[in-house]
Amino acid sequence: MFTSVSRPNLERVCFQTDFQNYMNLPEISEDDRQILSSLSGYFTTEAIQYYSFAFESTQYNGSLEEKTDLLLADKINDFWSEHKRCVKNIVSPSDYCPVCGVSYNPEFNYIKTLEHVLPKSRYQQYILSPINLVYFCGLCNSSKGDEVNESLFHPYFSNITCTGEVTLSMFERTDHKIGIKVEFHEENETYLKMIKKTFKLQRNYQCYIKQVLNKEISSIELAVQQKLTGIDSAEKLEVLKDYLSKYYSFNPQNYYVRTSTERMLLEKLKTEIETNYENFAQYILENSTMN
Ligand SMILES: [Zn+2]
Repeated sequence: MFTSVSRPNLERVCFQTDFQNYMNLPEISEDDRQILSSLSGYFTTEAIQYYSFAFESTQYNGSLEEKTDLLLADKINDFWSEHKRCVKNIVSPSDYCPVCGVSYNPEFNYIKTLEHVLPKSRYQQYILSPINLVYFCGLCNSSKGDEVNESLFHPYFSNITCTGEVTLSMFERTDHKIGIKVEFHEENETYLKMIKKTFKLQRNYQCYIKQVLNKEISSIELAVQQKLTGIDSAEKLEVLKDYLSKYYSFNPQNYYVRTSTERMLLEKLKTEIETNYENFAQYILENSTMN
């Protein structure tokens, strides 16, 4: 199986023939079976038990729930090393989510989660199959449903990048509060629809931006704390605008930027804050703990 899936030189297609073929197998291949048995020392007994059970029954019975730890916690790193060794031609190690391009960062609650590309509810034979296990961030993982269609994304089988250039804006919503809007620039309509539908990347990026803004707000609050005491909201807004226009500048380097996506998002945020500091002042006021 693995000889047939070395990274192909592809156009922007979302669903690769090799993986499609794999998906159509009635059961795991002999190669896969061998890899599984060589990795069996890393799985919990419980996982193997449930897996055997699931594999033998006609329909997945829910035994391996989302939160079940499939892998022995103290062996998780060894498992991935071995996993990569087994599939070394197609796996590129990554410390960021292959879907949204944001680094795994517990501080921002971006954690690695084990994803079943072929959903375990429908493809029980691949529940522990190494080729079907990938890491996604928690947000991307939770966005993906059980549908298997042309929007299926498998990072090992695809050289598409899910991320692209975005427009970021702080705008006044109909309820007069400040919202953060992320829009994609993408010429390929089909691709854009797939990303939007499957992974809700706008929402992921909004979360990322909000986390960054929360940190900024904390430091701004510290800087203007004294000036904000004992005055009403309208006056606070003026103080904040004054501070932002005269003394504040957003510095992306305050963040540990590891990927081009993060750099892109932070640069967009910088531009938006600098050109639209009035909305930012309003946003601070709405989200301030001192309010
Ligand atoms: Zn992600």
